[in-house]
Amino acid sequence: MTRFKHALVTGGGTGIGQAIAESLAGAGMEVTICGRNIEPLEKVASRNPRIHALTCDVTDEDSVAALYETAQAARGNFDVIIANAGIATSAPVGKTSLAMWQQTLAVNLTGAFLTVRPAMDTMKRAGGGRIVFIASIAGLKGAPYIAAYTASKHGVVGLMRSMAAELARTPVTVNAVCPGYVETPMLERTIANIIEKTGRDEQTAREAVARGNPQGRIIEPQEVADAVMWLCSDGARSVTGQTIAITGGEQ
Ligand code: NAP
Repeated sequence: MTRFKHALVTGGGTGIGQAIAESLAGAGMEVTICGRNIEPLEKVASRNPRIHALTCDVTDEDSVAALYETAQAARGNFDVIIANAGIATSAPVGKTSLAMWQQTLAVNLTGAFLTVRPAMDTMKRAGGGRIVFIASIAGLKGAPYIAAYTASKHGVVGLMRSMAAELARTPVTVNAVCPGYVETPMLERTIANIIEKTGRDEQTAREAVARGNPQGRIIEPQEVADAVMWLCSDGARSVTGQTIAITGGEQ
């Protein structure tokens, strides 16, 4: 673990990304976190001297290039990249506007591609590295009313598999973690949406979400972070091209 020195966690100011950033920093790495809004990033960075906040919009190639330049000049090349930034959208296919479709793919799929692309050559040259995509169980199966999100996360899994194949002869591993519902600000918005669309109260909406997990509960961000930490460990050096479902058994 300690042989890696500098990690990038996109969307590291909140939710799953925050838990991953704090875990990586806890293991001794310097961690650059980014998002569009500086406030949550600075709040996380202010509590840990190894965490460094920068704004970046992962859908914008120039913004990602500027992030790489600033962060790598300060702390060296990234040897761990966690492509975590994402948005959740919901609508039946027939009511999915082109704008919603394009925005979901822009952040979740193109954003993940732009996040990892600049690191490919430097990681190969450095003789090691870890790339982890935070996909979703929606990257492994379909579900109603989330077609754009599902398509974007299936795309992330495809990107991961191709990259793992390209990098198979190098010591760089590429994997995707696929959680079910996790207790984060994204889930809060999902629950608010269920309440608005169905008129249910919050507890009933939460229970409905938890029932989708065979263990009957909502997953904690740290559980996702723990899987990422293992993928970044030396013990996981032979694990590449894999999807790891963190779902309480949902498949
Ligand atoms: P979250 O708290 O809403 O985190 C999403 C993060 O992405 C935010 O910090 C957000 O920061 C950042 N982000 C969004 N658009 C961005 C952009 N264009 N450029 C840069 N950063 C951007 O939700 P979360 O649950 O932790 O989500 C993290 C990842 O886990 C996502 O990819 C999500 O799809 C995946 N996931 C979540 C769940 C769940 O139930 N929560 C389940 C499966 C998978 P700004 O808004 O400041 O940019």
